[in-house]
Amino acid sequence: MPRHPPVHRALPVLWHGGDYNPDQWLESPEIIAEDFRLFPLAGVNVVSVGIFAWTRLEPDEGRYTFGWLDDLLDRLAAAGMKAVLATPSGARPAWLSARYPEVLRVEANRVRNLHGGRHNHCPTSPVYRRKVGALNRLLAERYGKHPALVLWHASNEYGGECHCALCQEAFRGWLRARHGDLDALNRAWWTDFWSHRYTDWAQVASPAPHGEGAVHGLTLDWRRFVTAQSLDFHRAEVAPLRAAAPEVPVTTNLMWTYDGLDYWKWAPHLDVVAWDSYPDWHNDREVLWETAARTAFAHDQMRALRGGQPFLLMESTPSQVNWHAVNTLKRPGVHRAASLQAVAHGADSVMYFQWRKGRGGAEKLHGAVVDHVGHEHTRTFREVAEVGRDLARLPGVPGTTVPAEVAVIFDTENRWALDEAQGLARERKDYPQTCALHHRAFWRQGIAVDVVNMDGDLSRYRVVVAPMLYMIRPGVAARLDAFVRAGGTLVTTYCTGMVDEHDRCHLGGFPGPLRATVGVWAEELDALYPSRSNRADAVPGNDLGLEGSYGIHTLCELVHAEDGAEVLAIYGEDFYAGRPVLTRHRVGAGRAYHVAARTEPRFLDDLYRGLAREAGLAHALEATLPEGVSAQLRTDGETDHVFVMNFAADAQALRLGPADGDLVDARDGSAVASPLALAPLEVRVLRRATRAGRAAPRH
Ligand SMILES: [Zn+2]
Repeated sequence: MPRHPPVHRALPVLWHGGDYNPDQWLESPEIIAEDFRLFPLAGVNVVSVGIFAWTRLEPDEGRYTFGWLDDLLDRLAAAGMKAVLATPSGARPAWLSARYPEVLRVEANRVRNLHGGRHNHCPTSPVYRRKVGALNRLLAERYGKHPALVLWHASNEYGGECHCALCQEAFRGWLRARHGDLDALNRAWWTDFWSHRYTDWAQVASPAPHGEGAVHGLTLDWRRFVTAQSLDFHRAEVAPLRAAAPEVPVTTNLMWTYDGLDYWKWAPHLDVVAWDSYPDWHNDREVLWETAARTAFAHDQMRALRGGQPFLLMESTPSQVNWHAVNTLKRPGVHRAASLQAVAHGADSVMYFQWRKGRGGAEKLHGAVVDHVGHEHTRTFREVAEVGRDLARLPGVPGTTVPAEVAVIFDTENRWALDEAQGLARERKDYPQTCALHHRAFWRQGIAVDVVNMDGDLSRYRVVVAPMLYMIRPGVAARLDAFVRAGGTLVTTYCTGMVDEHDRCHLGGFPGPLRATVGVWAEELDALYPSRSNRADAVPGNDLGLEGSYGIHTLCELVHAEDGAEVLAIYGEDFYAGRPVLTRHRVGAGRAYHVAARTEPRFLDDLYRGLAREAGLAHALEATLPEGVSAQLRTDGETDHVFVMNFAADAQALRLGPADGDLVDARDGSAVASPLALAPLEVRVLRRATRAGRAAPRH
């Protein structure tokens, strides 16, 4: 696999920096001068500027004040630094809202918002698009060729939705294009239910808390429209940038925890994926390594959004955020481990929100590299500077990627449909958490995983895991079937194949169009109250290494094994004791496994250890990884970088094997001996030649 080109050839290293808001300090030039003294001390080589600077760029309609930004970019260039320049559409000036109320968003309750906050614009408003376009055109013409500029940062964390009359009209237009005529729409949405049939396009409107909420096809199409319209706004706002400076790449900062937009639709329109990572380290639900594993799941999706191309960690906090329920400090060492973890999973940057804490407003207590005290003698600054030194010592990493043989399907539209489903265990559907637990079982083994949606090319993988694939869109079942027949291993679970792309139930028995591939018929689905449980008993002698019993909770599917499917584990209790929990169906050259119940994580760990062995999956290291230790591989096909990260509470030692090759420390070139010692939170970056012809290390 060849090395990916850098995001911008003028900065072909790992980026280190963050959001910088000198527009809040224009009356304090001594503060800005101090920032330029501190940047090199922190090892910062790039800053993101202008993200919410509209009032400083256009203080009144048509009056532009670019002088401060001219000075800033020149100063960055003189200091040998680079700039990510934002378009300011994420927040509007008050004069714009006052003069053109249509730019303000209308909520689902049909009440128009007042001016305020941010992310409060209508994506359809022609006025807003015109005003944003005019300013963006000036930015592009003025700075498109500036030597400091390496990337456009479009808006900020696009999100939310608008229910104004303009958006309703656009929605109806989008529906006409999608469905053709009203009869087709009525069929797709199953509107004879509760007499919801539409007889005129004017009757069709977005879902509302005091209106329509029972037509799932409508809700699903509305969410699709919100993505389409937000993306349309994005494309309109970056058009002047691409026209004036086609050589400067464009991104926007995504949010993994945000489910309002389908990023899979978005990714093809970005030149590089960037995202904002804010895990709640030290929460009271999980131990540290579990948070690390969950974060890895997010990184693995961001990398997969553009087919393995390295992504940018655009924001993270160097200490704490201000918006979690409890804003715990990252304990010493966690920031460095979390930052290098992002790089291990494919990030070519570590960047922060924010460089310096402002004095007022909602984010004045959000973590920053520079605190209100104003100097570099803080724990946070020292840890940031240490990360800067680490990144500077990894010149071979940028552009390399993560070779994944496993894909976990975590599909946004499927998530939306599951959210809407009335049934199951309504408050404990836990689709993202379930996908993350399946992913974690590979993470614990040092096996790379891509987190993909159901539309992607699956032929490059050896194992595809599709937890709770409730919705199956047209063509997906055929591609999964072909994947298995060609020798792949597919894993499905309870709640598979229940609805189609319009959220209508599949007929003919679940898992619907996958029934023949999976070799089960799921006759009923039982939901258990939190205090109830069941168990899976491994069938003795099974060749996956499953032994004894495993706990089951929340959801239990009552399935029939069909077409010669083998039963590898059975229910131990209740009236369905003895019925299958785990089945294997051999199809063509491959295998389809079905997990019929929600199990304790230990079952997934054992199952995927067995499947990894059966499928001959490559591990980043031959060494067996203790609980809490992660190993991730980045490679360009000539040189491997293996990131070994200890998120366990205690020191660990790894016994390296012959397949691990001749490893050296990537930061100083020193030889690495076995056992490899790891202090708590220690990250080692190891380097080796990718030996041509050498079998990938396998367990
Ligand atoms: Zn609107």
